[in-house]
Amino acid sequence: MAYQVLARKWRPQQFDDVVGQAHVTETLKNALKNDRLAHAYLFVGPRGIGKTSIARIFSKALNCEKGPTTTPCDECSSCGEIAAGTSLDVLEIDGASNNGVDQVRDLRDTVKYAPTRGKFKIYIIDEVHMLSTAAFNALLKTLEEPPPHVKFIFATTEPEKILPTIISRCQRFDLRRIPVPQIVERLELVAKDEKVKIDDDALLAVARGSEGGLRDAESALDQLISFKGKKISEEDVLSVFGLVSRALLEELAEKILTGDIEGIVMLIARLDESGKDLRRLVLELMEYFRNLLIVLNVKEVSAGLDLAEAQVAALTRQAELTNTDRVLRLTRILGETVDGMRFALSRRTLLETALIRCARAAVVVSLEEILAQINELRKSGGAAAGGSGGGPSSGTVKASRRVPEKETAGEDQGEMALEKSAETVTPVVPIVAESRAEFETKPRKTAGNADELAKLLKEWREICHRVGKIAVMAGSPLLDARPIDVLEDRVVLGFDPEFEEDLGKFKSGRNRKALEHVLAGSLGRGVAVECKLAEIRAEVAEEQAVEARELDVSPSQDVAVADQKREDVSPALKSMGEWLNVPEVEKVLEMFNGSIIDVRA
Ligand SMILES: [Zn+2]
Repeated sequence: MAYQVLARKWRPQQFDDVVGQAHVTETLKNALKNDRLAHAYLFVGPRGIGKTSIARIFSKALNCEKGPTTTPCDECSSCGEIAAGTSLDVLEIDGASNNGVDQVRDLRDTVKYAPTRGKFKIYIIDEVHMLSTAAFNALLKTLEEPPPHVKFIFATTEPEKILPTIISRCQRFDLRRIPVPQIVERLELVAKDEKVKIDDDALLAVARGSEGGLRDAESALDQLISFKGKKISEEDVLSVFGLVSRALLEELAEKILTGDIEGIVMLIARLDESGKDLRRLVLELMEYFRNLLIVLNVKEVSAGLDLAEAQVAALTRQAELTNTDRVLRLTRILGETVDGMRFALSRRTLLETALIRCARAAVVVSLEEILAQINELRKSGGAAAGGSGGGPSSGTVKASRRVPEKETAGEDQGEMALEKSAETVTPVVPIVAESRAEFETKPRKTAGNADELAKLLKEWREICHRVGKIAVMAGSPLLDARPIDVLEDRVVLGFDPEFEEDLGKFKSGRNRKALEHVLAGSLGRGVAVECKLAEIRAEVAEEQAVEARELDVSPSQDVAVADQKREDVSPALKSMGEWLNVPEVEKVLEMFNGSIIDVRA
């Protein structure tokens, strides 16, 4: 038998042979079973994941002599001709080829004639987005009123380039990149059949290198067999793809997670000198940390999560070194880096900088973690202090503000720093809070900018007054509401449940517009208003009582004690020295190796 490339030899012939696209094949099978066939189908997805294979199987299913059927017989002449590409009823047009227009014109002329042998005349147009406007228009005419015996199957990698008028006439299917474990499984099968010895890491590397495309994976295996014969190692695969080995990737990730900057720089040098594709490396690292996030957050790590067995062990171990917030920070930095690398003069420099940033972000303690620890401490610390009643505990540093249960207090400060004691190498530990976006959606008191919130609170009376000038009925109900959060794009306004009806006045319309207008003037940017009920009555009352007192909330980059609500302020604020003797404060300072640099009201 003549040599056949693996991808062709293993091309699926039945719906059930198609790897990783069950959501498409099952739907098509149901349509066939229930005789609910559309005139035109559109298969969307990256190259090499089965679009044309499914189109051909579907054609066979429609035109099989025993069909329409969900399991074409693969024996009749119709099935045979379609598989061989010689069927007169199934025409494959390559949209990317020059004769696309002519073929579509021919199509328009021949479409009215009945099929020669099968039940349907099927036009498969691959890369349909490449058709010229003229060809599209010709196609559209046919699509508007297709004869009942005609089916169109379009395939594309770039659906956004197809005319909406065409898309709207198609039933659309989005094919997925095939998950790594499924590619590995298929490659294993192929290798076994070809009597090729290839270890798990090598298979995994092939799957990684093919980025979810089974055809690419099979071609790569083909290529490897012709280079290396019947025994293939991971190293062979890596050299073909310019990939970094799994072990090296793990090593690099570990250095990032443990903040080993020196190790990172050395490792990048090694990789660069051995000619690895550094942009690819960043993509791989992103994928790696994505997998780590899965392991961190999903209890049962199963194959469906796109993780091969070999990956899970290392990830599980590394999950112990970190937490979700930190890893999210890393993926964000890497995401920015990938974009930048396209245009960077020196990829290596950019990569080094990015990974150093990652390493710092990975070991930095977020405010959230500090607060969690402080809360722990308060629980145990109260007991340790020896039941001193209303004494020191009432004067505790309320670094945690009034953090309600489960609230993840966070990055109000943007950046925050604890000053470290003199003998440590770095004088300042930046507490980088880069994970703001993730938490905006969570219910909380202040997710956004504390300074801006303070500003609005301070100016609230004036704001109400100005709103009242624009919308007469809006001013006074606002006096009983309070901004409770300021985010990039909106201001969250709290209405006490007692004034619920006032909330309705700002859901839309003139009042809301007026308020948004005034807020935009105050903040210097356009913001929307989000109204919600919040327990603010006490706050409002107290605020009115202390109205005269000036708020001192200066932009703080380096506070040792987090912002305090005014009700937390002890009337007789202790001096810095006195705070040092409070047991809880002592413990906090010890825990973070810090010192008090400021005490704020
Ligand atoms: Zn057949």
